[in-house]
Amino acid sequence: HAYEAASTRYTDVPFQRAGASGIQLPKVSLGLWQNFGRDRSFDSQREIVLHAFDRGVVHIDLANNYGPPYGSAESTFGAVLDSGLARYRDELFVTTKAGYDMWPGPFGDGGSRKYLTRSLEQSLQRMNTDYVDVFYSHRPDSETPLEETVTALVDIVRSGKALYVGISNYPADLARQAYELLADQGVKLLLHQPRYSLFDRTPEAELFPALRGLKVGSAVFSPLAQGLLTGKYIDGDVPADSRAANSHFLNGSALTDSYLERIRGIDRVAKEAGLSIPQLAVAWVLRDPVVTTAIIGASRTGQIDDAVAASQVELSDDVIAALEEFAAE
Ligand code: NDP
Repeated sequence: HAYEAASTRYTDVPFQRAGASGIQLPKVSLGLWQNFGRDRSFDSQREIVLHAFDRGVVHIDLANNYGPPYGSAESTFGAVLDSGLARYRDELFVTTKAGYDMWPGPFGDGGSRKYLTRSLEQSLQRMNTDYVDVFYSHRPDSETPLEETVTALVDIVRSGKALYVGISNYPADLARQAYELLADQGVKLLLHQPRYSLFDRTPEAELFPALRGLKVGSAVFSPLAQGLLTGKYIDGDVPADSRAANSHFLNGSALTDSYLERIRGIDRVAKEAGLSIPQLAVAWVLRDPVVTTAIIGASRTGQIDDAVAASQVELSDDVIAALEEFAAE
């Protein structure tokens, strides 16, 4: 099981600074939401994570409840660390979160100090690591005072168990409030994690302008709309080895006439630009530096190579304009 990382690992993916912080991240990151639970073989999961690292994708994004079952993606990642990757721990940027349903009862969900603090402790144990690089509040919780959530995050950073703070799925006004409550206690918000792709442009209206103003970066998730922004569903069929066939987060009902029309249009633009659809989709979210990194998911190593290739592409204004008519919801 000895692992030696590729000596070329910093030659492929460009790095980009997160807002006005000291942190530079690879323009593509790997998320372990799907494909890293107990439903897949450990050997192929290990191969994907090590391949990512070998290509410079040193940012690995997790959450407490990624699996299935909950917690198992962190356990898988911990086992990959134990199998040889741990010697590179300080070259890795590992993030986790708490905010959604995790364990029974009121302390296993939401934004309380109790939940966030104990959840991170559990995450560190599953991953067998001393610290995470970013600990995120996974979603806003309207029933918990924002000040309680923020103060718990500040205390976690002071404890050394997370180096930075992030928030995910917060609308612009709450993101601004969280930024300010953190700043009041001397802690800078490092990252916001919103959903963003050609098929979901919500952050463009309010969130991205707010983040630009605050000089905070973003790590955007589902840049391929879970695989819809690839060629695999373009004939209206669901391949047996695709997410739409195997996950309850996506299914064939997404393949509407409107979808098929838009993906075929995007395919034409991609072909003219000499790119594949996933390459175009990842390059598109990276066209504005308010997006520090695109967090992709991968069920095989070649998908990481596609995203790495995309991170090196700068789209022309013509290509960006040609995508407009296919990019709406
Ligand atoms: P994507 O939109 O990148 O979808 C990934 C899936 O698309 C893969 O698992 C694969 O599915 C398919 N795919 C990826 N690349 C290619 C390719 N080149 N060619 C063909 N198919 C491809 O991202 P995810 O939805 O997986 O989300 C990524 C990460 O974002 C998560 O792991 C998580 O870390 C984070 N996230 C955060 C959330 C939050 O609330 N903060 C919510 C959701 C995600 P397959 O091969 O199985 O069809």
